[in-house]
Amino acid sequence: MKTVSTIQEVREIVKKWRQENCSIGFVPTMGYLHEGHESLMKAAKANHDKVVVSIFVNPMQFGKNEDLDTYPRDMEHDSAVCEAIGVDVIFHPSPSEMYGENFYTYVDMDYLTEGLCGKSRPVMFRGVCTVVSKLFNIVQPDKAYFGQKDAQQLAVITRMVKDLNFDLEIVGCPIVREEDGLAKSSRNSYLNADERKAALVLHHALTIAQNLIESGETNALLIKEKMIQEIKKEPLARIDYVEIVDWENIKAIEQIHKSALIALAVFIGKTRLIDNFIHIIK
Ligand code: AMP
Repeated sequence: MKTVSTIQEVREIVKKWRQENCSIGFVPTMGYLHEGHESLMKAAKANHDKVVVSIFVNPMQFGKNEDLDTYPRDMEHDSAVCEAIGVDVIFHPSPSEMYGENFYTYVDMDYLTEGLCGKSRPVMFRGVCTVVSKLFNIVQPDKAYFGQKDAQQLAVITRMVKDLNFDLEIVGCPIVREEDGLAKSSRNSYLNADERKAALVLHHALTIAQNLIESGETNALLIKEKMIQEIKKEPLARIDYVEIVDWENIKAIEQIHKSALIALAVFIGKTRLIDNFIHIIK
């Protein structure tokens, strides 16, 4: 496994692989890798001759008062994880390698980014779309792997690839959870013991929604209300949003008749956690 920090090095490696007719799988991450990330890497490993993982805490997608500076980082651990899975290249650029001194070009998206995390974190999707476009142009993979954990991001990137004709396929992978149901996240490391317990409220609220839907309930407003009631029982929790949206266009719905995304963002203490499930109607 090689770890490289320049765009030039990635380009040279990829060029050589292409001459050898290798297929390339790509997993973009912000590092501090856990089993959620590992599941994406394993999926890529199973489907491609070569796997590239990027580790880049992208300043452009953080708002002014967000956790860019404190975001957890551990390259030693991340390298060991990638090595064990059989990743071929880690791309670990600096912000200046990615953005240089002057940077004037952005990729942005309307509509799908208006609600949910796009509403709470207004600069995030512009940062995500821009950095992911750059990474796609640098790595030029056949497929890129994203987690359903960030469901709106998965929808946005899938749309961006279609709208801008990127020559690659996006593969969505299921959410990996802790044994008690908490979705794995690098940000879980911010939680103290009490907060860690309180954080289960996200999963509990989603389980309530899932049970209601499975028992035939289609009233999205009623389901949302039950979720909100559950979260309000937890003193350490503060709701950012609880939404039920159409999975195709990420717009709020009142009745669940089509595939729906049930998504929430909740502050546990100072830590903002997200989780969701997608109810597929074929
Ligand atoms: P991040 O490092 O948080 O930007 O995440 C990098 C990729 O890993 C994204 O596509 C995430 O959706 C995915 N990911 C993060 N947590 C999980 C999880 N618990 N299960 C599955 N995928 C995840």
